[in-house]
Amino acid sequence: MSETDIKTHSFQTEAKQLLHLMIHSLYSNREIFLRELISNASDAIDKLRFKAIGHPELIEQDSDFHIDITFDAEAHTLTVTDNGIGMTTGEVMENLGTIAKSGTAEFLANLTGDEAKDSQLIGQFGVGFYSAFMVADRVEVLTRSAESDEGVWWSSAGEDSYEIDTREGLRRGTAVVLHLKTEAHEFADDFRLRSIVRKYSDHIGVPVRMAKATLPGAEEEEVDTAGEELEAVNSAQALWTRSRSEIDDDEYKEFYKHVSHDFDDPLTWSHNRVEGKLEYTSLLYIPKRAPFDLYNRETPRGLKLYVQRVFIMDDAEQFLPLYLRFIKGVVDSNDLPLNVSREILQQDERVTSIRNALTKRVLTTLETLANKEPEEYQAFWDEFGEVLKEGAGEDFANREALMKLLRFASTRGEDNKKTVSLDQYLERKTEDQDAIYYICAENYETAQRSPHLEIFKERGVEVLLLFDRIDEWLMSMLTDYEDMKFVDVMRADAEVPGASAEEKENEDSEEDDHPLVERISVVLGDKVEAIRPSKRLTSSPACLVLSEHAMGAQMRRIMEASGQSFPDSKPYFEFNPGHPLIQRLDGEQDEDRFAELVEVIFDQANLAEGGTLNDPATYVERMNRLLLELLGD
Ligand code: ADP
Ligand code: MG
Repeated sequence: MSETDIKTHSFQTEAKQLLHLMIHSLYSNREIFLRELISNASDAIDKLRFKAIGHPELIEQDSDFHIDITFDAEAHTLTVTDNGIGMTTGEVMENLGTIAKSGTAEFLANLTGDEAKDSQLIGQFGVGFYSAFMVADRVEVLTRSAESDEGVWWSSAGEDSYEIDTREGLRRGTAVVLHLKTEAHEFADDFRLRSIVRKYSDHIGVPVRMAKATLPGAEEEEVDTAGEELEAVNSAQALWTRSRSEIDDDEYKEFYKHVSHDFDDPLTWSHNRVEGKLEYTSLLYIPKRAPFDLYNRETPRGLKLYVQRVFIMDDAEQFLPLYLRFIKGVVDSNDLPLNVSREILQQDERVTSIRNALTKRVLTTLETLANKEPEEYQAFWDEFGEVLKEGAGEDFANREALMKLLRFASTRGEDNKKTVSLDQYLERKTEDQDAIYYICAENYETAQRSPHLEIFKERGVEVLLLFDRIDEWLMSMLTDYEDMKFVDVMRADAEVPGASAEEKENEDSEEDDHPLVERISVVLGDKVEAIRPSKRLTSSPACLVLSEHAMGAQMRRIMEASGQSFPDSKPYFEFNPGHPLIQRLDGEQDEDRFAELVEVIFDQANLAEGGTLNDPATYVERMNRLLLELLGD
């Protein structure tokens, strides 16, 4: 190799940032670098096995798959070798020099600089190949693609750049050579490496081999080209193919990290073998934390698909509905053909029935978690609740199950935590209550302090407080739960339970014939649909009420943000005849002053709901005039 052929390339900016973090902040659990390298080697073997289904010639020379770990304690090197699919020069540059994940730049921009927090975030992102730089000050990769005769050498110290060159005489597959940092020399040690492999990589479906511990009289097994005897250190059986009773929790957790590229343990999982008309095994995991790109539509999602133990594809999204896109895991089918493609998956009836079954499986797992481990379920809801709401809105077949999983903040709660289930709501409803009451607002404070809730609070009727972006849409999809209708307390027709007979009579007689109705309507004119004395206010002077079918404020804001515009739907203006301000208004003889006060009260009712004023300047002028009068001469 002549020096001049070596080309130096700069890492992509995002890759550089990630590398920097990997080297400087993620040092608490350095040994996981080995898990990442073995995981990549195993993926590379899976990919080649899959390719070989259609092109058996690719593996004719070398079809005995394995991952080998060797080390040199004197030279302080550690090498992980696989005979998987390998990489071409272009692939090396693409895979090791850039990060293709969309949203990476935004993700990195959100890092805080606080090392502890950032290392958590990086974990969510998936540490991957670059974790090698936690223990190595130089990493070399030697690789040859199964489809090419030309080998590639790549080398980097993990700073700004890497070097690359072609290399003759390489075997198919990839060798990653780590030149260990002084403070990581401990990893070039037989005992240490074996225990790391067993701890993190036992579930890998191919043998992970190391030089045999030389026991006198031991049987000859396999001899590699260097003449050293190798033996498998892991059990080399794909985890999901084993029976549940044989697998302990730690094994499940490590396998999760392999399939999900997550750094953290999963929250829970469900492992099942189905026999009968369709035969398949599934192992589904619920992560602890939402990935940073949960709402990015382009993010690949879905399960790892195997057919008869052979890896077919990553991100098979056809096996779960979109709203369960956060689920990670494996499905291994005995019925699908090995040459199945994404297009076929989309139309296949077997896939549809597996998908229905897996969806139910996830929902049951969540329900069990909610019943048995309410605190863990709460943690799940805090992370994934909004995504599950998509499901409650759109998955009609599973709506009942999904509605049981919903959690809301409520007027009974102390804070904005979403902890109340619909069942819990129904358990403590008042005697004559025949509806589930809710309010939608921009945020918790606005919802919780809305004047619309006054009468409900007074009569001890619980109201659910909704303030996620998706809520108004969700509530427009749901009509009832357990025969109880959902009722929006902001709507004109919302009736409040719990009135005594006397109160009812008063309410009826009060009806709409208050003398203020006429006078206010002269001022507000066609800004409002109608004006009426309120049955729902106890301490506020006035509020605005939506007519039955009008679009709510939250939905309107979302639609308008997306560039659509709508004719204004007019609210009802309700005033509280018992309020001192309204009583003063009633006694006001000066019509100009009366008009001024009505306008102010109208604007304030709007503000109290988190609305914005069309003409805030005029409102401020009016308020200032009134203030001046008050402070006056
Ligand atoms: P991930 O495994 O999440 O894709 P990594 O950072 O671990 O991310 O690896 C980046 C990419 O480099 C892999 O997706 C793969 O394309 C390539 N790669 C890494 N190790 C190997 C290997 N041993 N053989 C072939 N390709 C590899
Ligand atoms: Mg990886």
